[in-house]
Amino acid sequence: MKNLNFYREESFVFHERMIASKKATQKDPEIRNRLTALNGRIETLYQSYKNNFDNNNLEFLTPHGYVDQNKNDLLSLYSFKSVIIQNFRSNITTTATNRVINTCQNCTIGEVSSFDHVLPKEEFAEFAVNPLNLFPSCSVCNSAKGRFWLRNGQRIFLNLYLDILPDLQYLFVDVSFVDNTFITDFSVQNPNGIRPALFSIIESHYSDLHLPRRFSENNNSVITNLQNQLKPYIGRLALNELIEITKEKIRLNRIYFGFNYWQSILELELLDNDDFIASLNP
Ligand SMILES: [Zn+2]
Repeated sequence: MKNLNFYREESFVFHERMIASKKATQKDPEIRNRLTALNGRIETLYQSYKNNFDNNNLEFLTPHGYVDQNKNDLLSLYSFKSVIIQNFRSNITTTATNRVINTCQNCTIGEVSSFDHVLPKEEFAEFAVNPLNLFPSCSVCNSAKGRFWLRNGQRIFLNLYLDILPDLQYLFVDVSFVDNTFITDFSVQNPNGIRPALFSIIESHYSDLHLPRRFSENNNSVITNLQNQLKPYIGRLALNELIEITKEKIRLNRIYFGFNYWQSILELELLDNDDFIASLNP
């Protein structure tokens, strides 16, 4: 899980471009005019969004409350397939070294196939295409989030544009070997002193997106890959040397994929597990 760089240009201009790209149809020739008529208010709302975004307190924003035709018009601006949205996606998911991050950072399991609306668009139709409100996401995370984003006034989910992830371990896994099968049990804990307000969002993010269960459901490829990576060296390299080299690979992966990247956390735990080491023997 990694932070992504947020959109640095003027968000409201993005909104205007989305309106301009909207095609009037015979059935609805007035769509652009109706949307443009809302612009005065929308620009002010975008300004409020930016202020709260800059202070990382989006939870204090209240919906404008668009209903009926206005709401439908605003919601109709968003389409994942639109060229402007796709260009935006490629801008924010391309790294400085020109690699594309196509994995959903909300979970680091699925591939990006939608934009999650940080403030749900059903409630905040005014921000349906605010680029600061759009976070690339897989469909599983997006549907798990749905319209929920606050609990007792607190945000449930991490905003990976703004919540800076700590280089402190909070994801842990227990590995056991039962009936010839490795069983994993992931959990989120705070023994390393992450600030309570941030840890509370991390905790609800992982539990509400069912990440511990989803990691375990995907554990087979990690376990098998690590076994197959190590097996060719058994008998050629001293075991402790092999483990040290592998830990170095994991350290480098955590820089690239995130300090609490679930696959790295699992690999480290496997290297410490006697049953796993025994499974490497021919
Ligand atoms: Zn996801």
